[in-house]
Amino acid sequence: MSERLVNMLSTEEIAARVRDLGAQITKDYKDKNLVLVVVLKGSFVFASDLCRAIDLPLRIDFLGVRSYGEGTESSGVVQITHDLSKPIANEDVIIVEDIVDTGLTIAHLMDLFRTRNPRSVKVCALLHKPARARVSVGIDYLGFTIEDKFVVGYGLDFAERYRNIPYIGVVERS
Ligand code: 5GP
Repeated sequence: MSERLVNMLSTEEIAARVRDLGAQITKDYKDKNLVLVVVLKGSFVFASDLCRAIDLPLRIDFLGVRSYGEGTESSGVVQITHDLSKPIANEDVIIVEDIVDTGLTIAHLMDLFRTRNPRSVKVCALLHKPARARVSVGIDYLGFTIEDKFVVGYGLDFAERYRNIPYIGVVERS
């Protein structure tokens, strides 16, 4: 069986959208204590481009999560495998996610973070698949809405492969 990647979003399309998101966040967080919380591993490529598109002093922290689910479906039960390095009390947090699919992971993280008394918590996601939403989550900064396909590249994996592909694609088997 052979595999090929079909392009869904090009490197150029992603770069332009990430620049826009960065400009919007720069406007909105001028007088705030911005902390970008990068949800590992899938968001690391998006976050590294996004943080360089934000022209503000900011802090970056990382959160490792493991989602227990069946197959490719998330269950919403999220285990923290690597916690933040510092408290977020009184800070303005943006959670940076690669993709919001069922919404269960981000809903869980929002609940968790609110117990830590930040001044505000918002969500920035590169991709959203509304067709599979199980809970409604507000995405404050969104890159692209996509159809219900399993995507890889730009940090997103399939069994740990494809994270280094510089665009978003769909794996096709023949
Ligand atoms: P949710 O809890 O919203 O269903 O799941 C979010 C997580 O599931 C994402 O952060 C990502 O790790 C994984 N995920 C959901 N859809 C996709 C997809 O199309 N491709 C890849 N590579 N991961 C996905």
